[in-house]
Amino acid sequence: MTAAAQTNTTQLLIGNRWSDAAGGATYADANPATGGPLAGVAEATREDVDRAVRAARAAFETGKWASMAASRRAKIVYRMAQLIAERAGELALMEVRDNGKPIATAKGELGAIVDCFEFYAGAATKNYGDTLPAPMPGYVAYTVREPLGVVGAIVPWNFPLLLASWKVAPALAAGCTIVLKPAPSTPLTALALGKIALEAGLPEGVLNIVTGSGADLGQWIVEHPGIDKIAFTGSTATGKRVAAAAAATLKRVTLELGGKSPSIVFDDAEIDAAVAGALYGIFYNAGQTCEARSRLLVHEGIYDRFVGAFKERAQRLRLGNPEDPATQIGAITMPEQMEKIRMYCELGESEGAKRLFGGVPAHLGDGLERGLFWNATAFEALPSHRIAREEIFGPVVSIVRFKDEAEAIALANDCEYGLSATVWSQNVGRVNRVARSLRSGTVAINTPYAVFPGVPFGGFKQSGYGRELGFETMRLYSETKSVLTYIGVKPVDPFGA
Ligand code: NDP
Repeated sequence: MTAAAQTNTTQLLIGNRWSDAAGGATYADANPATGGPLAGVAEATREDVDRAVRAARAAFETGKWASMAASRRAKIVYRMAQLIAERAGELALMEVRDNGKPIATAKGELGAIVDCFEFYAGAATKNYGDTLPAPMPGYVAYTVREPLGVVGAIVPWNFPLLLASWKVAPALAAGCTIVLKPAPSTPLTALALGKIALEAGLPEGVLNIVTGSGADLGQWIVEHPGIDKIAFTGSTATGKRVAAAAAATLKRVTLELGGKSPSIVFDDAEIDAAVAGALYGIFYNAGQTCEARSRLLVHEGIYDRFVGAFKERAQRLRLGNPEDPATQIGAITMPEQMEKIRMYCELGESEGAKRLFGGVPAHLGDGLERGLFWNATAFEALPSHRIAREEIFGPVVSIVRFKDEAEAIALANDCEYGLSATVWSQNVGRVNRVARSLRSGTVAINTPYAVFPGVPFGGFKQSGYGRELGFETMRLYSETKSVLTYIGVKPVDPFGA
């Protein structure tokens, strides 16, 4: 039997049933724009994780999901896409209240979430193996892609439902079962996804959702002997801990981690388009984006003109109430994140970077007095400054000057991360040359948009490994099995026995 999730106190989803956490503890979830309470959230324990893993394991072992005709599995994943689309408005508002992002941003994400589920619904029937050239005369050999098993999906707070979808949709399409743990500060849309999964007809135990602390529950999910794969998005520091802990049970791991991604503006760029794209690249989602273009590398020949226009247009961005459709920069999701941004802005000043604008919190009225807001900020920095090298995860950009193409490439690559980059230039030879030289998982040319279902997304270097959103992602939720058949007439008898 399936009970409805409560409105003000949330529950855990385990084995298609909603239940309180063992011990009944809850914690308070607040709206970062107002400081007001949103919900009491069930604080799961390790015992709850054990229950969730048992449910996911049982669902996997029965084969009801893994062995279901791929076309039937596809229909359920597609039904989830339809239900998400029907509730997009309600889910977007829920995300805004939990995360603090502008409603326009959240609505855009909902569209991308529907696209993601639709893409993987289509992929479910195309996770082909290969027919192999005969390894010996008289042999037929082929491979099949089998679902990998139970997936532990650990998701951060910056794109709560979007990043959950990037894991849940391909895992379901491949036939895996899941234990999903959203970030403690933004659990609500993941729980709403659980409700949708039940309505779509997902069999018992295929998607389980536990809410609570990452250091405890997340760590236990990563160590748990009943889980086969970890799909993690979060910081590089936590990603390293995840990889180390997962090694003890040789779990498969995909890591989508941090970045310090560059926008590179050449002197032959369309300046207006580059200014608009660079603004969006850093200030979208208040810079709380793994692929934020937080380093702006600008050719010396256009530097003053570009930076002048960038500053002038940044002042016109609308920071404010996330529920106002006109707002472009919303709240910072957590107080800890505000402190991190403050620390980096102070560090920037103390290490000699020149503040061009921002650098301070924004104080709003109209019920947002207790909200967490930070003004769009830019520093002129040297490549050696820590603010130009370390991930800040807020609306703070470091602008660095370069003199030629070789220096731009060297500066862009002089970074421990390698997630994304944008190149602004009208020279077709240059943009392709530079794209090929960048050590980066994604390179966008003359556009700030670079994340779409079907286009693999993930990092080089310490931005992680594995790819999400691509068709190849299906392989990361599958194991390859080789099947060899002897079809000869004479028995295979190497011993002559
Ligand atoms: P973390 O990497 O610490 O957390 C991401 C998720 O992992 C959360 O759900 C978290 O839960 C969980 N987690 C924490 N510790 C463990 C663990 N030992 N094992 C398994 N899961 C764990 O990021 P934060 O949320 O603390 O943000 C810190 C910084 O990380 C940001 O300032 C930003 O630089 C970066 N970041 C990057 C993201 C990206 O998209 N690349 C996304 C989010 C953050 P809990 O919140 O309880 O710790």
